[in-house]
Amino acid sequence: MTTPCPECTTAVPIPADAIEGELLVCDHCAVELELVSRTPLRIEVFEEEEK
Ligand SMILES: [Zn+2]
Repeated sequence: MTTPCPECTTAVPIPADAIEGELLVCDHCAVELELVSRTPLRIEVFEEEEK
């Protein structure tokens, strides 16, 4: 199972046992991604809150 990276559109593999909130790293652009939803499959760029 893969889904396109929001940054570079490269297919990012999603582990079968990944849970919502899991952090993934795009192999192509090295951006950190958060698995927002499994159904439907949705990932977003993970942004650490720094204030
Ligand atoms: Zn990427």
